[in-house]
This record gives sequence, C-alpha cells and structure tokens, in this order.
Amino acid sequence: MVGPEGETVTQRASTGGLPSDGVIDATLEEVHARYHGLDDGEVADYIPVLAEADPRWFGLSLIESAGTVHEVGDVDTEFSIQSISKAFVFALVCQSRSSELVHERVGVNNTGLAFNSVMAVELNDGKPLNSMVNAGAIATTALMPGTTSAEKWENIRSGLSRFAGRPLRLDGRVYESEMTTNQRNKALARLLESYGRIITDPLDTVDIYTRQCSLQVTAHDLAVMGATLADGGINPLTGRQVVSAEVARDTLALLASCGMYENSGEWLFEIGLPAKSGVSGGIVAIAPGKGALGTFSPRVDAAGNSVRGQRACFHLSRALGLNLFASNAVAQRVREGR
Ligand code: GLU
Repeated sequence: MVGPEGETVTQRASTGGLPSDGVIDATLEEVHARYHGLDDGEVADYIPVLAEADPRWFGLSLIESAGTVHEVGDVDTEFSIQSISKAFVFALVCQSRSSELVHERVGVNNTGLAFNSVMAVELNDGKPLNSMVNAGAIATTALMPGTTSAEKWENIRSGLSRFAGRPLRLDGRVYESEMTTNQRNKALARLLESYGRIITDPLDTVDIYTRQCSLQVTAHDLAVMGATLADGGINPLTGRQVVSAEVARDTLALLASCGMYENSGEWLFEIGLPAKSGVSGGIVAIAPGKGALGTFSPRVDAAGNSVRGQRACFHLSRALGLNLFASNAVAQRVREGR
C-alpha cells in the first residue's frame, strides 16, 4: 500500500468529451484505410488453432460511454478473447471479493517479464505480481467465488457476458487446442501451489482459466466491455451495473501499468490509455468517462500485441483526444482574454 491505511477520500471524476460523431466516423475510416495493408507481425501459433486466423482481418470499434457506436471493418468476426479475459475476471473477483484481497494476494506491479514467465514468480517469493500475467491470472481465477469448478466457470462466463451485453460462448476447438499445449500454465499453477499461493486444485484452476481465454468475442464486444469500465461499471448498451465505479477505476489503474505485457510502459508513454491485449489479436483501450476502443487484427508482435491494433490506437488516441495525460494550455489563454 502506498496510500494511508484505513482512510477513505471520496473519488471525484474529471474527464472531457469526445469530438462530434462525424469526426469520429471519418477518423475511424481513415485509420482503417491507413493500416489495413500493414503486414508486420505474425499470427500466433503456439496455440495451434489460432494459426487458422485470416491475417487480413481488421476491425475497429469505438463505443462511447453514452452508448453511441462507431465501427469499421471486421467488427463482427469472432475470435477467442485470450488474455483480455484477465482484465474482466480481475474486475469480477474485485467485485465479489475485494480489490484489497487481490492487491494483497496477487499484487499490482508489473513484472517487466513475459506474460508466461516462471522466473517472475521465482524472483518474488512465489507472488505472481499482477493479474495480467498468466501466473497472476491463474491465481485470480482461483479466487473466483463458486463451490465447484463448474460454478466458478459459470460465474466467469456469465460475468464476462454481462460486460459484453450478450451471452458469450466457449470456442471448443480453441479450448481443446490450448489444453493439449499448455504445460507451462499447468507448471505455473503447480509452482503457485508449492508456494501456498493458490489453495484450489491447480489443474482445475488452469482448466477454468483456459476456458475463460477461449470465450468468443468480436471487436464490437471488446468495445462494449471496455466502455463499461469507462462508464463507472455500467454497460452503456444494456444500462446494467456490472461492477462498481470503484472496481472499474481499480481495473483501469491495473491495465495502465500491466495491460500490454512487458511493453506496458512504452504503450502508456505513447498512447496514454489503460488497455489489454491478447495473442489472438484483440485490444481493448479505455478512455475513462469517454468510451472504449475494441480492435482486432491477428498479426501480433514479439510481445503478443496486435501490430495494426497498436498503430490504430496510437492514431485514434491522438486524433480523438483520448490520451489521459494530454492537456491544452489554459492559463495563457485566460491571461490573454481569448
Ligand atoms: N490463453 C493464453 C495463454 O495462457 C493467453 C495468452 C495471451 O493472450 O497473452 O497462454
């Protein structure tokens, strides 16, 4: 903890608005046209079924906190959510248990190492450091309420569906494919068990974690899920409160420091938004109080971040004024009476 213990201060929010609908639509079109031919990066194949993705797919969705939808390209193509599920499972666990519990048991600092690093766990006395790397995500999934594995899984599936505003389904082929190749995740879970960091059955927990990664979403769904976090936890399309405003805030804080793998610092420096990506090519980037971007394009870089998605977010963050750290000089204008 860096804050004063046991003291609460009411959270006030301070966020600006978005440009007009016309500007947003034209900018999305322009960004899609600019990057759809970019062929850098590779389609992930360490989970064999993921290699079947069409590298040409490219969809951009921006959903405002007020619910207006702006989209271009392959926004209805389904793909497995993969690591992006970690953000929303974190939020659900914070909501049903508490943010403090996850903070204490898992941690909220970046590892600076790859998403599936064993060394990160070893270097930190078995503490996984954050819920956005595999070890921390498995430890977070283990905290999901439910008396049986089936109940925990159903709580995750229905919870993520509330974020998306529609029932999400498991992609059985992706799940089977990952279950035959995820020895490393099983090893991470056993390692956490050996440190007493998870008390549920490690292999059952990896099974649930793999299911959550295999839920099918679209770029549109990612934007709705992100817009829910941008809107104090209320889904802007269904009007339903999915998590509290405090949990939405805590989730975005974690995404800002840990959401983009070991490139999170670089991402925040250049794009200035909390975000989460997954190896199947999705990115969700959130502008608190304004809305969220959902992008999908399967070619990813060495860290696992979609190449076109990152470029698109970079461009849109600047052109639409989304960067959290950007400001316009006011004092000078006031002094000059402009
Ligand atoms: N299910 C994947 C894994 O555990 C998620 C990886 C990712 O999207 O970063 O390896």
